[in-house]
Amino acid sequence: MRKKIVAGNWKMNKDYTEAEELLFGLKDRLIEKPQRDGVDVIVCPPFPFLDLAYDAATDEEGEEYLFYLGAQNCASTEDGAYTGEVSARMIASMGATHVIIGHSERRKYFKESSEQLFEKVNLALDNELVPIFCCGESLEEREKGIHFDVIRKQLEEVVFKLKESEFSNVIIAYEPVWAIGTGKTATTEQAEEMLAFIRGLIKDKYSKDIAEDSYLLYGGSCNDKNAAELFACPDVDGGLIGGAALDLEKFLKIIYAA
Ligand code: PEP
Repeated sequence: MRKKIVAGNWKMNKDYTEAEELLFGLKDRLIEKPQRDGVDVIVCPPFPFLDLAYDAATDEEGEEYLFYLGAQNCASTEDGAYTGEVSARMIASMGATHVIIGHSERRKYFKESSEQLFEKVNLALDNELVPIFCCGESLEEREKGIHFDVIRKQLEEVVFKLKESEFSNVIIAYEPVWAIGTGKTATTEQAEEMLAFIRGLIKDKYSKDIAEDSYLLYGGSCNDKNAAELFACPDVDGGLIGGAALDLEKFLKIIYAA
């Protein structure tokens, strides 16, 4: 039986004080009213707040995680003269457990290629970080009816190149680009249809057991109003949440809906 996962992607939002308020607010509220058993919460703040987030996410000994901690990106090289980059090893050494790789904003604004994403996924795995690999089609691609081909290609060029033992540590987030930050959520039918398609591809590529055990998330204007319905779909194992993760009350409602 798969768990549910609710992951918050803060993107480039909040300053230190606001981050502290949101992170410790989340901590207090989850201590007061924990999420349902079988629900993992992951918070992905900007890099400068990872340390703060680690303090909020863990118990006094720094061992048990009340919620997990992810970065929003990592470098595609191990270390060295890459001014401004942040390596997977640095992220892992701060107590992070996950890293988002291949978000559509990184693909679009920073021109990240599948080759780079493959390097990033490997570096994440080498450093025992769980990659949350994002895939998604544009509106134009959906309107042309090529969305299934686009998703297949994005997976084949990166995560399907992994060995079975590596792939089983990856979370996939299907995020249609036309739904991200637009308020235009995919219907439950569209989300379920694509995630069932992805699970089928995993079965063909690896095995039925790996497909059954894989975590597939939906992302794109998922909020406190539509989360319960989306999460009730059999192949939707939770959500990657952008805007609604910046508001404590909304994020908590999504967590409790899972
Ligand atoms: C995201 O950026 O991963 C995302 C899903 O954003 P939003 O929820 O704001 O659409």
